[in-house]
Amino acid sequence: AATPPSQLTASTCCYCGVGCGVLIEHDGEKILGVQGDPSHPANHGKLCSKGSTLHLTGDLDARALYPELRLGKGLARSRSDWDNALDHAAAVFTETIREHGPDSVAFYISGQLLTEDYYAFNKLARALVGTNNIDSNSRLCMSSAVVGYKRSLGADAPPCSYEDIEQSDCLLIAGSNMAYAHPILFRRLEAAKAARPDMQIIVVDPRRTDTCELADLHLAILPGTDVALFHGILHLLLWEGWVDRAYIDAHTEGFDALKTLVRDYSPAAVAEICGIEQNDLLRAAELIGKAPSFLSLWCMGLNQSTAGSAKNSALINLHLATGQIGRVGAGPFSLTGQPNAMGGRETGSLSNLLPGHREAGNAEHRAEVARYWGVDSLPESTGLTAIELFEAVRAGKIKALWIACTNPAQSLPDQQKVHEALAACPFVVVQEAFFTTETCHYADLLLPAASWGEKEGSVTNSERRITHVRRAVPAPAEARPDWAITCDFARRLEQQLRPGLPSLFDFDSAQALFEEYKHLTRDRDLDLSGLSYAILDNQGPQQWPFPAGAQHGTARLYENGRFPTASGRAQFLAEPYRAAKEQRDARYPLLLNTGRLRDQWHGMSRTGTAARLFGHAEEAVLSLHPDELRNRRLEAGELIVLRSRRGGLILPVQADDSVRPGQAYLPMHWGNRFLKGLGTNVLTQPAFDPLSKQPELKLSSVEVAKA
Ligand code: SF4
Repeated sequence: AATPPSQLTASTCCYCGVGCGVLIEHDGEKILGVQGDPSHPANHGKLCSKGSTLHLTGDLDARALYPELRLGKGLARSRSDWDNALDHAAAVFTETIREHGPDSVAFYISGQLLTEDYYAFNKLARALVGTNNIDSNSRLCMSSAVVGYKRSLGADAPPCSYEDIEQSDCLLIAGSNMAYAHPILFRRLEAAKAARPDMQIIVVDPRRTDTCELADLHLAILPGTDVALFHGILHLLLWEGWVDRAYIDAHTEGFDALKTLVRDYSPAAVAEICGIEQNDLLRAAELIGKAPSFLSLWCMGLNQSTAGSAKNSALINLHLATGQIGRVGAGPFSLTGQPNAMGGRETGSLSNLLPGHREAGNAEHRAEVARYWGVDSLPESTGLTAIELFEAVRAGKIKALWIACTNPAQSLPDQQKVHEALAACPFVVVQEAFFTTETCHYADLLLPAASWGEKEGSVTNSERRITHVRRAVPAPAEARPDWAITCDFARRLEQQLRPGLPSLFDFDSAQALFEEYKHLTRDRDLDLSGLSYAILDNQGPQQWPFPAGAQHGTARLYENGRFPTASGRAQFLAEPYRAAKEQRDARYPLLLNTGRLRDQWHGMSRTGTAARLFGHAEEAVLSLHPDELRNRRLEAGELIVLRSRRGGLILPVQADDSVRPGQAYLPMHWGNRFLKGLGTNVLTQPAFDPLSKQPELKLSSVEVAKA
């Protein structure tokens, strides 16, 4: 019989925003297995295929183990030590800042960092360096939802709990293949639907995904037409008298302008724009309008769009018009893509934010944070967002770039240009657990980071629930926790930039960072100043707000109908549908959609190390409707050239009638380790939403030809 593992350490899964609790089986040195944590409220002990194989993905052959440095672009990196590596980085950053100013350096971080890591990076960039050039890959993930919540409801706060999903009478799942991207939450939904078959589920997705298997109604809208659909539903809700006039009058503003706007969104017009049947539109409106409780879930299909902010607002409009928010089973509920994108938003890890859901562009907010940190001021200049940031690198304006826990050479759109930017940047630091990522290739300094199970901190999942993440085993070789690397570098940099002054980075643990950070949330919408690691350990994971003196977290927001806006009322946004700029044409006759596979995660730096996770999908394959194959005289399995205006790939094609004619689908995960040439994002476009700056990763016009 196998020897039982000697220890179990509670942590969370490091993949999606469901934030499942895990118990790491280990012997103090090595991770031996993983179990779902039965006491965690997100998953009650269940794990999906990715979470349950976490222990198989720690492949040491792929791990960065020692600092590596090169002193010239054409040279190979060689092993260094931490002192030498960080002294060198501090010297280069000091020289660059002195010569070109603080905005000549930038930090690009990740929704997979822990909250304490984020906080250290934010303080480093804003308080020490004096730049707002700190953005995160969450810009590619949730920034449209951030704008949506803030504009409509006054704060970046998903108002619901997972239990609301189970208790709802009608769910609208828009732009989310939840079955693959948030599997455990989907399992909870499946169980709820099995227990209450009257629960109605509407799925809005151009593709017939696995999530549609649970749908009572699938609206396969044409890509990018969501705003027209939501306005069309509101048109019908108004026509049929299914809006909640009392709620609108008591708790909202701006309804008249929206009412005027949606007059133009007749069922005939919307059916034409969205490419759906009028009857299906009517049915969706009826299901929503007559439901005792209505909840919507959405993800990248809404957010990764040049109309991402408008899509979010148009969906939230439906909740405000029907009074379906702030009560059991009701509300707009964004599904967070990454495990701690929420923590990033809370700590201010987008260039336009500051800790505690503050704004970098707000003088009062800057003064509050500067006072708390004990510095004279925080930078006023507008920070660059992800796409802008790498454009600035390519243009030579950013001369030193620090990348942590993310792989922009694969995950950013228009990949070729990102590679050019990284190749041209005078000094690139990559702080990373896996040296195999595409971005590491460009590192002048590679800093080995601790990974899942190897470091302590906290994360916030999609339902605002904070979990204390614990360290089970030491990091391999010389890898260190991200917060420790950041603070160690910062202490060296402040000797140059603030000589003789007390250190801003006198932290000896993740807990010390948490304790400093939490007071910056006091009296803010997300107030978590009453939390501590001890409370999280004793009472279990908690949902914010959790102010000082609270006995428990807050399951649902806005139950009293008051919103954190200037007037205390929620805001209707009246914005017309605008078609995406890039459309099908004679040269590029297909619209390409990208998305997730069930068993892979992002750029596969971790999941790509476990053979078992290739059982579901072995290789990159383009999905086309059988008619499109026939029209091109292509056979399934044949190699094709897939081209957009930005680049091309060679890969096999498959017939797939879940994709409508005129469209194509390719999973997002494949990079140049698995494809000839660059990866999926060589095709995608960098155009972004004017407010959220989130790029249009889900819609690119492409052509397909025999290879
Ligand atoms: Fe991990 Fe998400 Fe799967 Fe839960 S649902 S085990 S958080 S990947």
